[in-house]
Amino acid sequence: MELQALEQALCPKCGNLVSELNELTGWCAPCSIKQVCPKCGREYRRGAHCSYCTSANVRYKDRIADLREEGYTAREALKIVRDEIRPKCAVCGEPITRSRQGSVICRRNPVCSEANRVYKAKRRNRIPKDQALQETLDEIHGTTVR
Ligand SMILES: [Zn+2]
Ligand SMILES: [Zn+2]
Ligand SMILES: [Zn+2]
Repeated sequence: MELQALEQALCPKCGNLVSELNELTGWCAPCSIKQVCPKCGREYRRGAHCSYCTSANVRYKDRIADLREEGYTAREALKIVRDEIRPKCAVCGEPITRSRQGSVICRRNPVCSEANRVYKAKRRNRIPKDQALQETLDEIHGTTVR
């Protein structure tokens, strides 16, 4: 049989006979692109994050458990947590919708847009985030008549 002439290797990870092992990992191709999460033991793609452990379900499981004790269903509790973790505008306090990662100020109100502009300019000048935000808020509140 010609097939048997092919050199086969045993993947130490999954135990399958494969035609070749990845030189770096010593595992077969499918095993080499996977990584086992040290926390939950689930496999995920190398270089990514474990989607299970990074999901709101797990990251906020204590908070969800509290809500469930208060009588919320799992689905309701998850929704509440999602609302709680949504970034809120540092100026007006409203949740930022469709925000890009790291957004701290919305554009809903003129004062927020202005704050956004000031903040971005400060960040371009390499002012650290916290400081830039504090200065922005000081400036904005200084010019806002309430
Ligand atoms: Zn394998
Ligand atoms: Zn995990
Ligand atoms: Zn705002």
